[in-house]
Amino acid sequence: MVRKLQAQGLSHPAVQQAMQAVERHRFVDSALVGQAYEDTSLPIGLGQTISKPSVVARMAELLSEGRELPLGRVLEIGTGCGYQAAVLSHLSREVYSIERLRGLHEKARENLRWFRLSNVHLLFGDGMLGFERGAPYAGIVAAAGGESLPQAWLDQLAMGGRLVAPARSKGGQQHLVVVDRTPQGLVSKTLDVVNFVPLKSGIA
Ligand code: SAH
Repeated sequence: MVRKLQAQGLSHPAVQQAMQAVERHRFVDSALVGQAYEDTSLPIGLGQTISKPSVVARMAELLSEGRELPLGRVLEIGTGCGYQAAVLSHLSREVYSIERLRGLHEKARENLRWFRLSNVHLLFGDGMLGFERGAPYAGIVAAAGGESLPQAWLDQLAMGGRLVAPARSKGGQQHLVVVDRTPQGLVSKTLDVVNFVPLKSGIA
């Protein structure tokens, strides 16, 4: 899988190592294990999906590029099955990952138990509010996309920190958006077209 990602342009050594270290088959149902190393999203229950490896790698690379590793505290919105949180744990000092569906929050806890990652903190709640107690964050990553970026995420970004999230542009397409907090203010750019599950408010 990592060789395929390299062929697609993944060049960051630490991200390659993180993708290598986290076995993706441990995050999907046994019936889907045969597809775990294909570059495809797969169902994880409750209508949600595990993100494509190329998208997880891309977001990790965007968070890491040009920065000293490990990053400090990183917030992930949308734990799902916990795969991306595990990848991020290899690139950051602390990962706070928040999920709004209790069933998936619990599934992620079970999946991650095997990896014994002491720096991953799983939270159950509405990630649209961020997680104030861990702020400010060196990095914020969202695995679900809404119409716009919630203000709380921007507020909880540290100076020099970077937010990577899907958001819908005026044309209606979803794009990855990168926002950097710089001494001159927030600087954002719109990158690849992506297809994430919807960001929803509240818990269930
Ligand atoms: N990070 C996962 C991707 C999970 S899919 C991976 O490693 O593959 C995205 C997840 O975002 C879903 O589980 C969905 O329930 C969750 N989500 C959507 N809106 C949310 C919100 N406001 N707060 C927290 N989680 C949210």
